[in-house]
Amino acid sequence: MDGSILAALAPRQRDVARRLARAFTAGGRELYLVGGIVRDVLLRRPLPNDLDLATSALPEETTRLGRAAGADAVYDVGARFGTVGFVFGAERERVAVEITTYRREHYPDETRFPAVALGGTLEEDLARRDFTANAIAAGLDGGGLVDPYGGEADIALAVLRAVGDPDDRFAEDPLRLLRAARFVAQLGFRLDALTEAAMARNAPSLERISRERVLAELDKLLVGEWAAAGLEALRRTGLLAVALPELAPLAAEAEAGARGARPHREKELWDHTLRVVSQAPARPHVRWAALLHDAAKPLTRGVDAAGEVHFFGHEPVGADLATKLLRRLKTDKATQAAVRLLVALHGRPTTYEPDWTDSAVRRLALDAGEVWDDLLDLAAADVTSGREEKRRAAAARVAGLRAHFARLQAEADLDKLQSPLDGNELMALFARPPGIWIKRVKDDLRERVIDGELAPDDKTEAERIARELVAAEETARSGGSVAVGSGAPPPAVP
Ligand code: ATP
Ligand code: MG
Repeated sequence: MDGSILAALAPRQRDVARRLARAFTAGGRELYLVGGIVRDVLLRRPLPNDLDLATSALPEETTRLGRAAGADAVYDVGARFGTVGFVFGAERERVAVEITTYRREHYPDETRFPAVALGGTLEEDLARRDFTANAIAAGLDGGGLVDPYGGEADIALAVLRAVGDPDDRFAEDPLRLLRAARFVAQLGFRLDALTEAAMARNAPSLERISRERVLAELDKLLVGEWAAAGLEALRRTGLLAVALPELAPLAAEAEAGARGARPHREKELWDHTLRVVSQAPARPHVRWAALLHDAAKPLTRGVDAAGEVHFFGHEPVGADLATKLLRRLKTDKATQAAVRLLVALHGRPTTYEPDWTDSAVRRLALDAGEVWDDLLDLAAADVTSGREEKRRAAAARVAGLRAHFARLQAEADLDKLQSPLDGNELMALFARPPGIWIKRVKDDLRERVIDGELAPDDKTEAERIARELVAAEETARSGGSVAVGSGAPPPAVP
């Protein structure tokens, strides 16, 4: 397969890889493609523009060999961790390369940052990687894959399996717990049973990981093609309760449902949430809002006199919950504001009726502001009823609202397309009193603006055309046959 690893690269990446291979071989050093890029080639996934390589050379020598291979720039990514960065080519031909010295990780204590020792073997380097699918190296010289942990077979089976003893791997770096769920969401893999059991045992250690790193993984998980499977993995392993404790009540629904302790309908809250996430477009704000839109339902559940379950106020309570959660994870302010608004408004589009007034539609659009498109997409995704006719009716409401607003916008756009000269300007220009001639000139100018022949602010050109029109009209009035507008009477001239 190694031949095809190189063959799968973009031509400029392949060229860079070959130049590097020659330089490192000449220097007597090993050089392999490793990690995500090898995995993604084997999975036939789209490849990044960059190259990740591992070498037996120490950073200083790596720098020298990279220069010898013709790198245009060298930068220090983290010499302490053994990584040297290079840039080959520029603009569209640019290839960024990171070459890392084989590492052995060791863990002198329970600190956040593992200590890294440089200068192991390729096998030792692969041994410290997280999952078998990520622990494959590909030689650049026809040497084949180096795959001591059976990563290629696991990729073929779509199984995510920790390298070696899963408890050890997760204890070394608890971020791997979340990476596992993220790869489930991104790659559509299932968790190997022993790996999953170890994730459940080690879930509490995720507390040691900084919120920024947790957030980065959750963001990737949420926009994954199999996000629902990733979230389900988080729930089953208890990681959800650690990473997103605000969602514990929602997840508890699923657990109570599984025990038969809740009426069937209520268990569906979690399943519903997963379906809405899957159906929402894979953009971060909408996906976060999909995850959180009903999170306050368990907190606001009530039963009315007729025995009907209701969730009064779950939107504003959910908006507060979302804000709290996203603030705790240190998301940026724009994300907090957008998701908060989406959760607060998520129920409104499906209340749309065809007889809503234009101003009712405008009011909702104003409330939504910049999240308008996300809101419509979220509302469309928030339709999961088992009953076909209910689903269709809800979808029709969202589509109706979308079309209504689009019409208002088209009208507003049309309103902006006006004659560059108004009636007063025309009267001043021709020193004429008001009359139907103004309407005819203005209509003619506006037509040209709509047709794109005349810019709405081009008064000079508009004046030139207006003079032509009025002159033609005067000619027509004095016996010619040209008139402004069709069949209209000549303008009243004082
Ligand atoms: P992506 O780039 O899509 O996030 P990736 O697998 O390339 O996925 P990176 O974070 O770029 O992930 O890491 C590159 C490689 O480094 C991985 O494929 C894996 O071999 C190794 N790696 C990264 N993070 C860890 C970790 N926390 N523990 C062990 N190995 C890791
Ligand atoms: Mg990567």
